[in-house]
Amino acid sequence: ASLERDNWTTDSRNGQGFKGHGMIAPFTPGWQIADVNPLVIEKSEGSYVYDINGKKYLDSLAGLWSTSLGGSEPRLVAAATAQLNTLPFYHSFWNRTTKPSLDLAKEILEIFTARKMGKVFFTNSGSEANDSQVKLAWYYNNALGRPKKKKIISRLKGYHGSTLIAASLTGIPALHQQFDLPVPFVLHTDCPHYWRYHLPGETEEEFSSRLANNLENLILKEGPETIAAFIAEPVIGSGGVILPPATYFDKVQAVLKKYDVLLIADEVICGFGRLGTMFGCDKYNIKPDLVSIAKALSSAYVPIGAVIASPEVSDVIHSQSNKLGNFAHGFTYSGHPVACAVAIEALKIYKERNILEQVNNISPRFQDGIKAFSNSPIIGEIRGTGLISGTDFTDNKSPNSPFPPEWGIAAYFGEMCEKHGMLVRVSGDTITMSPALIVSPEEVDEIISIFGKALKDTEDRVKELKSQQE
Ligand code: PLP
Repeated sequence: ASLERDNWTTDSRNGQGFKGHGMIAPFTPGWQIADVNPLVIEKSEGSYVYDINGKKYLDSLAGLWSTSLGGSEPRLVAAATAQLNTLPFYHSFWNRTTKPSLDLAKEILEIFTARKMGKVFFTNSGSEANDSQVKLAWYYNNALGRPKKKKIISRLKGYHGSTLIAASLTGIPALHQQFDLPVPFVLHTDCPHYWRYHLPGETEEEFSSRLANNLENLILKEGPETIAAFIAEPVIGSGGVILPPATYFDKVQAVLKKYDVLLIADEVICGFGRLGTMFGCDKYNIKPDLVSIAKALSSAYVPIGAVIASPEVSDVIHSQSNKLGNFAHGFTYSGHPVACAVAIEALKIYKERNILEQVNNISPRFQDGIKAFSNSPIIGEIRGTGLISGTDFTDNKSPNSPFPPEWGIAAYFGEMCEKHGMLVRVSGDTITMSPALIVSPEEVDEIISIFGKALKDTEDRVKELKSQQE
């Protein structure tokens, strides 16, 4: 029984009886747990999810930018079941391992052949991958006799996870507040959001040059001999879907090369087709030394992530571990056979169904459809590429006149989407979407139609709030 939509509020959403539940829930404040019925999702089917009362939602975020093959791919279920029936678990420590982890490493390196990557290290998440990246960069520099080269630079609004180091790398103050983060060896440089941060009259290229200059000045101020690595998402996801401005990565990479700073590409969202290229690095001509992957690697059916290291880095790690007699880093579930079996199947499906062609065919419909709302008086900017999109709500079309935070305009838009049967992500003044890569033309039309309805509701809400203010 679906709810009467006209009377819909977050308090009447399905999930009644679960207020004050027993979790410290991720990214959820205590008052919400105490006072607001959570949305309890029970079932998924393609691009849709259903709550426990059977209400259907188009999941425009694909889980958390992750269920690329949608929520009901039988081949992934079969791969998991077959592996569970044969060998549900064995580890990959001490030169013992399993066939699925060997096969997946081979498969990943084959995908990376043209990109000349050397070795894969398995993790269970994007955060673990990024924490491992920092340990690998340190191990590498210690092996090369450069013990001072340890600082890591990341960008404001970049998101790299929520473990101790990954949260430090994340350039979002909320993840640091009261957790005593960031750790001191992490430095943040500019967010590359042109619309929000460019100077009057500054072109995208000039903006990129200024940011690359600022990065170079930061490296010089700290001392290049202290800077180990720079980490970046090709397109910033959780920070609001921020695309790199023209020439940005060319200029940044020239600076990194000059000072012998490793480049870590965080492909946790962009990897495996989200931008219409296999990796975000392919789209922006990024040549990383290290890559983090997770999410779409298994279409999120089971947790798995990985670090991929260039031969230059992996060779140094290899010989250093020989000298030390060990490579003393790893997780119980590194290369979990069930996760690896599912990931192998996901990679097969991406290839067989030509997922890149699918994304490139469908993305103009998605991008053009959403961007057609750009002239709404309450929208400042709509951005996106491939199947990822971000919308900033603001007054007067200006990044410098946000709506009063207590109006909760983006949150209201998110609630209206939910009321009309679609889930989006809300962060601050921004809403983001990244549907399953298998999204159909009809589903894209539905996303656009619900976006339009929720926008109309939100425009009316802004008018009402403004009239109350007068
Ligand atoms: N890196 C990026 C770019 C991400 O978007 C995320 C999660 O959203 C992470 C890392 C962290 O991944 P996890 O939540 O699996 O630890």
